[in-house]
Amino acid sequence: MAATVIDGREVARLVGEEVRQEVEALVAQTGVAPGLATVLVGEDPASAVYVAGKHRACAEAGIASIHHPLPAGTSHEELAELLHALNADPTVSGILLQLPVPDHLEGAALTALIDPEKDVDGLTPISAGRLAQGVSGLRPCTPLGVIELMRRHEVELTGAEAVVVGRSDLVGKPLAALLLQANATVTVCHSRTRELPDACRRADVLVAAVGIARLVRGDWVKPGAAVIDVGINRLPEGLVGDVDFASARERAGLITPVPGGVGPMTIAMLLRNTVSAARAQALVRAPS
Ligand code: NAD
Repeated sequence: MAATVIDGREVARLVGEEVRQEVEALVAQTGVAPGLATVLVGEDPASAVYVAGKHRACAEAGIASIHHPLPAGTSHEELAELLHALNADPTVSGILLQLPVPDHLEGAALTALIDPEKDVDGLTPISAGRLAQGVSGLRPCTPLGVIELMRRHEVELTGAEAVVVGRSDLVGKPLAALLLQANATVTVCHSRTRELPDACRRADVLVAAVGIARLVRGDWVKPGAAVIDVGINRLPEGLVGDVDFASARERAGLITPVPGGVGPMTIAMLLRNTVSAARAQALVRAPS
């Protein structure tokens, strides 16, 4: 029987609506709307599209957003100065440095300058450490979106065999940590993994975050598994994921499409992180 196809756009819409209500409640309580500051260095067209999408989503949710476009030649010192100013600005609840930055800059070093309390992308070393230790903190948006999709579709994670293909700091590693926290038995596969198809066949939950079009074939999927495709690959025929959707859906129990699966969830979780950060900052500021 063909798998149930997860509608990521619909789940993202529901999360966006919840966030809008949380924003209303927070404004009623504190008089201040959460604010997201985005920083984009240079003119990468794909990054510009992503940032524009984030601002649109903020506006719909009632989150104030301020964009800081900087010329491609901006120096480390100039960017550091801006990030420090945003860290100190009480109207800014969350800061997002759009990656990748131009080659003369070091994305990881700049990201590390963001105040962890405003790190709505969850990518600073402090946020990564908090996640690794399982203490509260802001988590990376795409892995959060993957977990949220599974939660809303009642995928049992406790005791499940979860296989994550990909070990990036952005997706694979934080997702593995979140799955572990949800009591799954987690295997992380990568470019040097031997017998990748066999590892995938063990998975009750199979997540592909690689960046190779249709790498995961239908016969790698355990019958009934939840298959979550994070990959975004641009082919002449359009966007495709890291999973061969047509063959995988014949074996999976639940599967995400590309586009319309994980993608929309990333922005939804950014909105949620921004409200969480704003709420935590309001609590710190509230008189005791
Ligand atoms: P990355 O390039 O940083 O990491 C890719 C990972 O895949 C690496 O850990 C590597 O070891 C592994 N890998 C490479 N070749 C492999 C192979 N043959 N077999 C097994 N593993 C292999 O990429 P990333 O930033 O983690 O992104 C992965 C994909 O997810 C990309 O297509 C990216 O566009 C997409 N992505 C989507 C969203 C979203 O919102 N949907 C967000 C982030 C990334």
